[in-house]
Amino acid sequence: MAGRASRHVAVSAVPACGLYIHVPFCAAICPYCNFNRGLLDDRLKRRYVPAVIAEIRGAPARRRAGTARSAADTVFFGGGTPSLLDPGEIASILDACRDAFALSADAEVTLEANPETVTSASLAAYRQAGVNRLSLGVQSFRDDELRQLGRIHDAARARQAVADARSAGFDNLSLDVMMWLPGQTVARWQESIEALQAADPDHASLYMLELYPNAPLRDVMARAGSAQAPDDVAADMYEWAMDALDGSGFRQYEISNVAKPGRESRHNLKYWTDGEWLGFGPGAHSTMAGVRWKNVSATEEYLARVEGGADIGVEQRDLTAAERWQEAVIMALRLRDGVSIETIARKYGLDIWAGYGDHLQPYVEAGLLLHLDGRLRLSRRGMLVANEVFTVFI
Ligand code: SF4
Repeated sequence: MAGRASRHVAVSAVPACGLYIHVPFCAAICPYCNFNRGLLDDRLKRRYVPAVIAEIRGAPARRRAGTARSAADTVFFGGGTPSLLDPGEIASILDACRDAFALSADAEVTLEANPETVTSASLAAYRQAGVNRLSLGVQSFRDDELRQLGRIHDAARARQAVADARSAGFDNLSLDVMMWLPGQTVARWQESIEALQAADPDHASLYMLELYPNAPLRDVMARAGSAQAPDDVAADMYEWAMDALDGSGFRQYEISNVAKPGRESRHNLKYWTDGEWLGFGPGAHSTMAGVRWKNVSATEEYLARVEGGADIGVEQRDLTAAERWQEAVIMALRLRDGVSIETIARKYGLDIWAGYGDHLQPYVEAGLLLHLDGRLRLSRRGMLVANEVFTVFI
């Protein structure tokens, strides 16, 4: 304990980092998903838990001399489907985090979960293990849409998971829903948003379905003769939902995220506010002290390398000065509050309005970008063309 106490003192002036743990298993593979995941294989899962624990425990040794930053204040179990790990497995991974890092007492500990994988008993056990934020992958409150997406829960199961989470003591609950689904009309989307409001989470993430070129869902759509609505309808869906949620106790704080006051995702804010994080597990990325690295993605290879004591990194490089400020600006512009011109100038020695104002002015004149009080921020309509605005900086 003495060692841990002194470590707290040594890092007190350094912002705490976030810890991300990638769990690459799913009970079924959704036909639109392009994440790093595979079908649950119990044999691999039994090897995964000790491997990721070994990686976490070895992490301090991987840091460069002079840049050690062992304070952490968020842990995020993402996937894949992290709720396929049982509460005891989550608890032992969290123990490793506490041993290897000075994890703050009030750390935000998020578990992504799919509704069909949780019960009131397992949720109570996750809570007991130290998880204090639950992010449920609901995706839709319509059964026909869920079937089309290849999800293995229905809307009733999603509602049950919300109720179970509340009775297990989760007072920080997030729901993910998806818009611009094949065949989805504005009215059907409104139905899901109204159901979300009725479920009354503390936070919600609203994602637009993006179909990668060979997504199996494209074949499903071709057979069913369904298509995504035109872009302007998708824009209406987005604006309607954000307006509706803003009017019902939530505040949009990022392009895809709304939260009740104080319930913004502290972990994800590290990505959007130029923070630092360490990622563990197959394919996980880390960014710290201007260095970015990535773990090998394939789960079997990750396990073999950890078990054999080999390096699991596949890419490690120092970010260039330009990459660092560009990323800081672009990520901050995702936030409703946007980017402070002065903060970027202080940190990176660059006045972004002086350097890029000529290219940004047309977006300001079109009402897509606001230049007010020393900040640049996207309007709601501007958020729909965020990627176009970001290209100005690259
Ligand atoms: S549950 Fe999530 S991670 Fe798994 S296949 Fe479906 S979308 Fe991908």
